[in-house]
Amino acid sequence: MPELPEVETVVNQLEPLLKGQEIVSVAVHDKARIKLPRGSIPGQKIKQVIRVGKEIVLPLSGGKFLSFHLRMTGRLLWNSSLKTPSGLLHQESSALEQKHLRLEMKLKKNGKISDLKFFDVRKFGTVKLVSDISQLGTGGVEPLGEDFTLSTLQSLIGKSSQSLRNFLMRQDKIVGLGNIYVCEILFSSGLHPERTVDSLTTDELSAIKKDTQRILKRAIKNCGTTFSDFQQTTGETGSYQKYLKVYGREGEPCSRCETEIVREKTGGRSSFYCPGCQE
Ligand SMILES: [Zn+2]
Repeated sequence: MPELPEVETVVNQLEPLLKGQEIVSVAVHDKARIKLPRGSIPGQKIKQVIRVGKEIVLPLSGGKFLSFHLRMTGRLLWNSSLKTPSGLLHQESSALEQKHLRLEMKLKKNGKISDLKFFDVRKFGTVKLVSDISQLGTGGVEPLGEDFTLSTLQSLIGKSSQSLRNFLMRQDKIVGLGNIYVCEILFSSGLHPERTVDSLTTDELSAIKKDTQRILKRAIKNCGTTFSDFQQTTGETGSYQKYLKVYGREGEPCSRCETEIVREKTGGRSSFYCPGCQE
């Protein structure tokens, strides 16, 4: 599932393409899941492209906000077709395209027509039109924003005794982190995923804060991580996977202490960590 860096990558790529485009038409192909008031969007201009948590949001000239949440397999592609993760066009691309196409918009700028298509194989993705931006997002703190400080982190934890791993993935606390980046942040901070948040020292919390921001920024610079289904808006894939230290590396020696990386399944998700240097 795309996490903050993957969503930010899509936003960064779409912003110069969509800014100032007039939406000529919207065709919803999945009317059971995507409900947009009829005629509410055409004729409006896209003012910019922003990220709210893990949502890609287009503020429109009429004052409303069109939001896309990619969830598991959603893809937002610009003038492009579905591609396999290797970047090659799928042999049956046109058939696949039709099958998984949920929504398409025709856009116009300087007399040129283009399109933006929303594909979603597993159909968990959502498209919403809201009049107030506060209706979007999950209420958590933005980890790359100025509000994400040591004292914010302390107050988010409060009296919780959750495991560190579960806490960092709570979207009502901190937005945008999922399994991949949580594993990497905890490795970088040298903390065991099952440590409870009430056991953390100020230095340890400070390390989490710094590592979270450093890792997210580096991942954004590398256009995110691609395993199976993340694609940028041009159909290309991210390259942060080469920097992963523990995620997907079970059985390999730790880059810090050479102990074998382990994979532990808890609550339906896999935790990857080094039992030698994460305490
Ligand atoms: Zn280690």
